[in-house]
Amino acid sequence: MTLILYTTGKCNLNCDYCGGSFPPKLVPWEVEYSLDKLIDFTKGVKELVIAFYGGEPLLNLGFIMKVMDSIPASKYVIQTNGILVRELPVEYWKKFDTVLISIDGPEWLTDRHRGRGVYRTVIGNVKWLREVGVKADIVARMTVTEDSDIYRDVTHLLDLNLFDHVHWQLNFIWSEDWKDVRKWVEESYKPGLRKLIKLWIDEMRRGRILGIAPFQGILKRMKIGGPCPPCGSGFDSFAILTNGKVVACPIAVCEEWAFLGNLGNVKLRSLINRKCMIGEPCINCEYFRICGGRCLYTYKERLWGDEGFKLTCEVTKYLIDLVYDVEPIIEVEGLINEVLYPPFNNTIEISP
Ligand code: SF4
Ligand code: SF4
Repeated sequence: MTLILYTTGKCNLNCDYCGGSFPPKLVPWEVEYSLDKLIDFTKGVKELVIAFYGGEPLLNLGFIMKVMDSIPASKYVIQTNGILVRELPVEYWKKFDTVLISIDGPEWLTDRHRGRGVYRTVIGNVKWLREVGVKADIVARMTVTEDSDIYRDVTHLLDLNLFDHVHWQLNFIWSEDWKDVRKWVEESYKPGLRKLIKLWIDEMRRGRILGIAPFQGILKRMKIGGPCPPCGSGFDSFAILTNGKVVACPIAVCEEWAFLGNLGNVKLRSLINRKCMIGEPCINCEYFRICGGRCLYTYKERLWGDEGFKLTCEVTKYLIDLVYDVEPIIEVEGLINEVLYPPFNNTIEISP
């Protein structure tokens, strides 16, 4: 069971694909509920994963430390923009199992979208985490835009030898900034994925497993399945906003379909074994077992209409087919068990 905790709706960056802080009316910038309510909410849940989220979660260090001191989760995760990393004491960093840090690829690309100097600050902070002995799985979490070249950007991040895994999320449907998305998919994304999976296999044959999270996550779903949608939203992953609202998906801060209750009138254990919130056309799609409907928010909101939904399906199927094609090679190499990822729901969404 994964519990995503907003620590604040505020952010200290203003990335162009996100727009920075939430309006405080939607996601308040302070936590408005008592820690006791949260403790009560999580009572009786075994194997709890707590993931800190925002806004920028490190803007509320006090809340993070209080939660880690009082709720004995089996795993701790944080999704951060990486700017304020050194503000949290090292002993807390050492308790994290997964640290997801936003970075898009080379310096010019990251800084173009996230702000000048962001790349250097983030890289410096990841190096610091390693220097002080943090053993967590550190994941570079990329946002992929029309400026991205998936092969160039993923290999750039892997070559830094700082990140254990690289994951990416396509900026489709979230932004209207795309000039020619179809051209980008055909001329950049698909060829880049083919090149990347070839590199993944070539390196595997040399005994080196590159931590390319979407390939590994899809392979894991092929071998042992997983929740629907793959991020578990509304099924075995829930989020709590700073005002105490419990929602199915952390992005769905005001959508009615996502609202599940308020702290104080719902218990986490009562949400166990909820039904998957995804229906047609996914449940009868031949890719459903692996794809899992990809993203509950996209499924419900259709921000780019049916055409946009079809486009995300197309790229998802393309990626799944690529992994299908190489799966027998990985079996022959005898590396399947080492390749499967993530070991628990650490909030990577599997399908970008
Ligand atoms: S490929 Fe599309 S239709 Fe098929 S399961 Fe995934 S999201 Fe649903
Ligand atoms: S993948 Fe979609 S449903 Fe899952 S957490 Fe992200 S936005 Fe929400």
